[in-house]
Amino acid sequence: MPSPDVSGILSGMLDAVADFAVENYPLAPGTYYHVGGPARLALFPRTIDEAQSAYAWMRSQPGPHLILGGGSNVLISDTGFPGIVLFTTELGTLENLGEHRYRAASGVILQKLVREVMLPNNYGGVGALTGIPGSVGGAIFMNAGTVNGSTCQWLESVDLLGAGGARTVQMAPSLYAYRSQRFCAPEELILGGVFRFEVAGEDQRAVYQHYMQRRRDTQPQGFCCGSVFKNPPGEHAARLIEQCGLKGTRQGGAIISPKHANFIMNEDHATFADILSLIELARRSVRDRFGIELEEEVRILR
Ligand SMILES: Cc1cc2nc3c(=O)[nH]c(=O)nc-3n(C[C@H](O)[C@H](O)[C@H](O)COP(=O)(O)OP(=O)(O)OC[C@H]3O[C@@H](n4cnc5c(N)ncnc54)[C@H](O)[C@@H]3O)c2cc1C
Repeated sequence: MPSPDVSGILSGMLDAVADFAVENYPLAPGTYYHVGGPARLALFPRTIDEAQSAYAWMRSQPGPHLILGGGSNVLISDTGFPGIVLFTTELGTLENLGEHRYRAASGVILQKLVREVMLPNNYGGVGALTGIPGSVGGAIFMNAGTVNGSTCQWLESVDLLGAGGARTVQMAPSLYAYRSQRFCAPEELILGGVFRFEVAGEDQRAVYQHYMQRRRDTQPQGFCCGSVFKNPPGEHAARLIEQCGLKGTRQGGAIISPKHANFIMNEDHATFADILSLIELARRSVRDRFGIELEEEVRILR
């Protein structure tokens, strides 16, 4: 966590929050795109109690408000975020509850869950979660995954904070779908969740190696957000963009990856506008050529 800066607008703030707040906090280094100006104020609660204080305080302040985990699925404006950002990155508690159940706080790195819990116990699901960057909270919010499955599938329950206080939602398949869920309302904070795994028959270390290698073979390395667009039903966004002849198209420091057309890379000091214009180009081209409206997977914060 950066050292606290309690000057300026923080004077007069609640003591409990000032301890882990930073004013004018640069967001670009904390995102996988490495793009974005500063947040007016960033909060880094270190415990669930602090997260509750931070959240309550944030909600009592004028907006806008934003919750961020690993920053691997966001594109933030060069002008920054003119409000308060609550980071979950310091909430890293991971607890073995027994009987293949684990409570993970939202800031636990998803790949830590894969490597330190799923692999040593040979739990199924490694094929779905291997290689996805970011936090457990972000993975729950996005229902992150692959063709092999998605995060919410292994959740027993999720702990949330909202306007009405804390609540626990028992997970059910009706509450989530492809890269989406409907248990966490906008502006609610996912504090964490309880995962329930099952021991797999297949060697999960081999599965892990296979999917890590596959990512290396098919995905470019560098600053990006992974897939920019969701796959439309029965289609692949990458294939549609590629069919439009857009692989390798550049705008300023950004490029539609020649390796994977659904990856738009910040190759050389790209601006928010550079990346956004390639997103719009891809969307427009696919709409004009195929009549299909691509939906963004990346969260764009203007
Ligand atoms: C190289 C690369 C590969 C990727 N591959 C995949 C993949 O295979 N499958 C896939 O699904 N995704 C993939 N992604 C996208 C991304 O990693 C996932 O969406 C990830 O789960 C986001 O987690 P995060 O913590 O980084 O979320 P952030 O980027 O910090 O936030 C994403 C969204 O979740 C919200 N959010 C985050 N934490 C919380 C919380 N605790 N409470 C409430 N809301 C919250 C934010 O407000 C924001 O709207 C990839 C990204 C990269 C860079």
